[in-house]
Amino acid sequence: MSTARIQCTDRVVGAILASWRYDISGISPEMRRDYESHFAECVRCSARQKFHRSLDVTLAVLTSLAALFFLFALAVLKHIGPLEHMAFNVFGLDVEDTYHMLISAGVAGLIFSVIALALVLMATPAPTYLSDIAAERAKLLEERLPAAIKSLRSR
Ligand SMILES: [Zn+2]
Repeated sequence: MSTARIQCTDRVVGAILASWRYDISGISPEMRRDYESHFAECVRCSARQKFHRSLDVTLAVLTSLAALFFLFALAVLKHIGPLEHMAFNVFGLDVEDTYHMLISAGVAGLIFSVIALALVLMATPAPTYLSDIAAERAKLLEERLPAAIKSLRSR
């Protein structure tokens, strides 16, 4: 369903929220109440808030996956280090140069993706959002736990 045609119920509040990328986690609780009630009544803004938060999480996941990928590549390179003479001579490549080029590419990629991840975590409320989800899950588990134990006993 497209939310583009749905109008914001309060253009002024909607514009402020848009400039914050619909993130109200950084403002004081008293101020937050007004914006929270706007999210409750405005379909357009609450949909956009959900979109931006899932975008933040996606970015955080992608950048950490990239960092993991480069870590893995470096680990593999380190592992094949002792075998390099065998492996690379088959392809007739200059062993030292190729190996060092791959290592520097891996290090550069790792540094780049770690910086990207740090920027995402600093610039977006992804950490708050993720810890909120974790807290909610933990609460749900706690609520379910006694019921699960009860059902086990009744068997
Ligand atoms: Zn709105």
